[in-house]
Amino acid sequence: MTERLYYADSYLTEFDATVAKIDARGRVALDRSAFYPTSGGQPFDTGTLGGLRVTDVCVEGGEVWHEVEGALEVGQAVHGSVDWPRRFDHMQQHAGDHMLAGALYELTGATTIGLHVGPEISSIDVDMPRGETHLPQEWIDRLENLVNARVQENHPIRCWFPAPEELARLPLRKDPTVREHVRVVAMGDFEMVACGGTHPSSTGQIGPVKIISAAPARGKLRLSFLAGMRAWRELQRNYERAHAAARQLSTGVEELPERLAAALARLKDAEFELGRLRREHLLDGAAEMLAGAEALPGGARLVCAEVGADMAGLRELASRLIKDGSAVALLASAAGERRDLLFARSADVDLSMSALLKRAAEPLGGRGGGKPDFAQGGGPATVLAAAREILRRGERP
Ligand SMILES: [Zn+2]
Repeated sequence: MTERLYYADSYLTEFDATVAKIDARGRVALDRSAFYPTSGGQPFDTGTLGGLRVTDVCVEGGEVWHEVEGALEVGQAVHGSVDWPRRFDHMQQHAGDHMLAGALYELTGATTIGLHVGPEISSIDVDMPRGETHLPQEWIDRLENLVNARVQENHPIRCWFPAPEELARLPLRKDPTVREHVRVVAMGDFEMVACGGTHPSSTGQIGPVKIISAAPARGKLRLSFLAGMRAWRELQRNYERAHAAARQLSTGVEELPERLAAALARLKDAEFELGRLRREHLLDGAAEMLAGAEALPGGARLVCAEVGADMAGLRELASRLIKDGSAVALLASAAGERRDLLFARSADVDLSMSALLKRAAEPLGGRGGGKPDFAQGGGPATVLAAAREILRRGERP
């Protein structure tokens, strides 16, 4: 069994040990180790062992196993060195989890059922008393305020292995998952729970704790958060983003929401006006299109055109083209591989537009349907030319 040096001192980064075992995969077990193995939602430590990079650490059968880049020998004396910035970051996230879980339990009676310290964000999964999977913003604020106040009050954090009789008397937030060698962590007088993880020695070192989302996950509530330098860096990033956005609008960050809302309102008005002008322009062109129309064998006028408009615009234009009688309009939107297609005819033209559209589009991979006088669909631009040829030949589709 590896003696776990981080139990007694989570600040220990340099240690000397002896290689006790090497398994078939070349993983190394020591007589004692300060390397934290992935467990309880906290990721493993990295660093060096005998000068070799440690790339993974896990716990199996009571031993802490180190994966190293290179070979060591059983009995070899090695010096271990733990990557402190990574470890301390994990300590901040992990202790931040305790603070949130403890405060949420106090405020709502919720039970925390899982913790995950990710490379960027950390999260806790919470079983809420009435099965809620959302947390109102007001509660998030209360939770954050309570946790960050306790961080600033800099309460001591203590870890120890109580004797069974002491353990039985301790007001733990939830029952331990192990029966023997139960390690307890206590933060001030507000959080006490069994835990084998690494923690700073006081709450002030956790730094700011910021909840970044409270959303349903696997039927429970998942709180995602940042603690310590992660929260600080996020504050810096958001400060820069907010100022960059404010500069674009030539305003200060304080006025940003109002100025943005006003700019979006102007944009909406402008888009509406642009749409109106485009339609007007399109309809103004209808007379010119009819003047340049070709005569079909039956005498009707044929307008066949690609038009810079969506389906609604095509419909409006087609209605205008066929309004005065004796006209056929074959229209396609102007951009993209698959175009909107709209075929329409005046009431006095005896041709089926739905049949024409089907016949012209289907061999080209397009499709469409509708009524004899008004049909719509989609397909390549070549459908227009195919339909025009059918009508030019005087065929009845
Ligand atoms: Zn812990």
